[in-house]
Amino acid sequence: MPLATPYYLVDEQALDRNLARIDRLRALSGAKCVMALKAFATWATFPQIAPHMDGSTSSSLNEVKLGREKFPGETHAYSVAWSDGEIDDAIAHADKIIFNSISQLDRFGSKASHIPVGLRVNPGVSHSHFDLADPARPFSRLGESDIGKVEAVMDRISGFMIHCNCENDSFASFAALLDTFESKLGHLFERIDWISFGGGIHFTGENYALEALAQRLKAFAAKYDLQVYLEPGDAVVTQTTTLELSVLDIVENGKAIAIVDSAVEAHMLDLLVYRETASVAPNAGQHRYVIAGKSCLAGDVFGEFDFPEKLEIGSRVTLLNAGGYTMVKKNWFNGVAMPAIAIRRKNGTIELVKEFDYADYVASLS
Ligand SMILES: *Cc1c(COP(=O)(O)O)cnc(C)c1O
Repeated sequence: MPLATPYYLVDEQALDRNLARIDRLRALSGAKCVMALKAFATWATFPQIAPHMDGSTSSSLNEVKLGREKFPGETHAYSVAWSDGEIDDAIAHADKIIFNSISQLDRFGSKASHIPVGLRVNPGVSHSHFDLADPARPFSRLGESDIGKVEAVMDRISGFMIHCNCENDSFASFAALLDTFESKLGHLFERIDWISFGGGIHFTGENYALEALAQRLKAFAAKYDLQVYLEPGDAVVTQTTTLELSVLDIVENGKAIAIVDSAVEAHMLDLLVYRETASVAPNAGQHRYVIAGKSCLAGDVFGEFDFPEKLEIGSRVTLLNAGGYTMVKKNWFNGVAMPAIAIRRKNGTIELVKEFDYADYVASLS
């Protein structure tokens, strides 16, 4: 029997395609890749992903613990700010800790003297097209931007983290950023053992200049005699996952509107946040519909697409690229039924790995 919609469907074969590219980059460059759990934390897939990566990285204590428990390899602990109540637990579960500010390093660094300690540095440049996600925006709190102050704490840290890319699919643009880092911080790179260039480099994309990236990272590591890390999140799962939906109703108001068993805000929140539309394939044909969600929000619209056949009540709709920043952000807005999670195994069978029901909704509040 086919699974009941709605559900997210992770495709193992598609994941393998991305993982092969990650392996290739690691082999050619010597860089280590740790998975950013912030983008994708569907741990049923970790047994497939982890052998092709060097560990995981985090943006909170919960992610540190999940990485330690479910993702073999190194566990990097990073948070914009650790609380007094979290710091001991974070250090206990981490192989490496990265502080976001010198004041956090001052407060907590001595507790972590038995593991490598790093500092996030903000060189004031970025590749990000959206103010909300731009670490170099004015008055940014993401990393230490006063190079003089960084210089004064070099004896207490062994590495840097510099994260300033977001969906950057251009090697030339990354290379230009690296040039800027080198001109601003090169004299400090000589004094550290490792550096992480964060996430947001879309090197698993079809047309990415992966060999050029590998060469540049390898040369960088040799020049400063350090270990380079990358922290891919979305790049690991890009184009691997769909959101499988059914049409519940079709209404007309100037356009044909197909209402599906999902809601943008609850199940693909970033479409609203970044004002994007979902995608379908092939998005061609004679029949055009607005695909809209079932929440009370007037703008609960996934997009307007062309279909080869007329949609009817019960027709299936598949939204593409629903892996990164979807499942980690899903919520119970409107009490809309939460999509299950399924995996399409390499032999083609579809396995349900998680279902949510009324009890989960109740348990999410009190
Ligand atoms: C968000 C983030 C990542 C992952 O970014 P992607 O765009 O998903 O690759 C990695 N490192 C840090 C510090 C981040 O904030």
